[in-house]
Amino acid sequence: MHNFTMPTAVFANGTRILPVNLLIGGEWRESETKRRIDVVDPSTAQVISSIADATPAEGIAAVDAAEKAAPSWAATAPRVRSEILRKCFEKIIENVDWLAHLISLENGKALPDAKSEVIYAAEFYRWYAEQGVRMHGEIGVSPSGSNRIVVQYEPIGISFLITPWNFPAAMATRKIAPALAAGCTCILKPATETPLTAFAIAQIMHEAGVPPGVINVLTTSKAGALSQAILSDDRVRKLSFTGSTEVGRILLRNAADKIISCSMELGGNAPFLVFDDAPLSDALDGAMVAKMRNGGEACTAANRFYVQKGIYKAFTDGIVDRMSRIQLGPGYAPDTGLGPMINASAVQKIGSLVEDAVQRGARLLLGGVSLNRPGYYYPPTVLADVQPGSQILREEIFGPVVSLISFEKQEDAIRSANDTEYGLAAYVYTSDLKRGFQVCSRIESGMIALNRGLVSDPAAPFGGVKQSGLGREGSYHGLLEFAEAKYVAVNW
Ligand code: NAP
Repeated sequence: MHNFTMPTAVFANGTRILPVNLLIGGEWRESETKRRIDVVDPSTAQVISSIADATPAEGIAAVDAAEKAAPSWAATAPRVRSEILRKCFEKIIENVDWLAHLISLENGKALPDAKSEVIYAAEFYRWYAEQGVRMHGEIGVSPSGSNRIVVQYEPIGISFLITPWNFPAAMATRKIAPALAAGCTCILKPATETPLTAFAIAQIMHEAGVPPGVINVLTTSKAGALSQAILSDDRVRKLSFTGSTEVGRILLRNAADKIISCSMELGGNAPFLVFDDAPLSDALDGAMVAKMRNGGEACTAANRFYVQKGIYKAFTDGIVDRMSRIQLGPGYAPDTGLGPMINASAVQKIGSLVEDAVQRGARLLLGGVSLNRPGYYYPPTVLADVQPGSQILREEIFGPVVSLISFEKQEDAIRSANDTEYGLAAYVYTSDLKRGFQVCSRIESGMIALNRGLVSDPAAPFGGVKQSGLGREGSYHGLLEFAEAKYVAVNW
């Protein structure tokens, strides 16, 4: 444990006790190497804490702990597991304000975004507390009539969960809650940039009654070596990863040796289509949510705005007006609408995407300049008439940049929307529902928001097609990712 001092700007009472070591078998331990990794506040670029640096051997110790806890957790009545998960939900909600401050502190996002994230994160416990007692199997008669087919779901086994920095609470709970509800024990490896939220959530889970070893948490400076060790262990049966497509590919290869079941929530390049008949102000509201939630650092963030010719100018003016009114500042400061990006290389990447787009003929209508202040800031930016071939249309921007492109025909918009290796989220605005559903059926994407700026919902199957991933999180689908169907052929 570590006496973690929050800046007084964040906490009136100054201190809060937060774990900053490895959680293995219910104990918070320092790494045997005693090595520490700095955690930085992106709003100031100052070091705010340091965390333990796990070795591959400590990865195996976490697998041992998960194995030890597995039989009794799998045998725990679903109702009992459900009540513990419900308690996790309640405790996170009780702690919503300081958890939001913590997220904002280590991730940089504006407090309203951080608070929404905590609530979204808590909802996975509530949802899976309800789903975990409704894991129904199947019974049928074989077509030949010779026997019955009985199917029941069993916990898949020890689950390795790897999460990114952009939603440090929600990406963890979206995996932990269904894993635990299905009766699995797990090892969580949060992103090195945002480990404190994961530690805080694990601590809250223990207070809620999650037994030792059911959730283990490891941080490391050598994610590749640690994961390789864990994925080479025969006892590990599930890998659930959220992060970039690039790292997802590496992990799929690593999981292949032991044929480990993989769920992959990867990158996105969401198109946002606005048709001439869309209600302008609704489309602008939705665009701001789809683009600016989490400062643009979301896998579902609208990356490419295809706007029909008749509404293009009005939509562009409206976006510039709304983006220019966003207040930039430390995530945890009052009135901040946009906090810093996660780190210096994120700022550099966004800058180079904008530069490339401008060099290829885009008009820079707002922002696009580097800011001379400590911390990792990038200003709200709007590019109009972005030209085909620009990098910004191919890569995730992961920042507060709107790229506008006009189109004339529906077919052109659909073709452009699908011109990407990704297929996570898409957005469509039109007053004509028939057209809306037709377009939705043609867009290659796991999730589409029709006349909405937000798709995420614990009750809905979240996930992508093409190189955006494999499997689904949330909803009943998310529970089945942590279960194996066992079939028994019965002579009745
Ligand atoms: P990332 O670089 O892929 O990292 C994600 C996680 O993988 C981190 O915990 C990271 O650890 C770990 N990691 C990195 N290299 C690894 C390796 N060789 N073996 C095992 N683990 C490794 O992604 P990120 O920058 O944190 O997050 C942004 C990306 O996540 C974006 O592409 C975004 O679209 C995607 N994302 C997808 C979803 C979705 O639901 N589809 C949701 C959120 C984010 P370290 O931190 O220690 O490097």
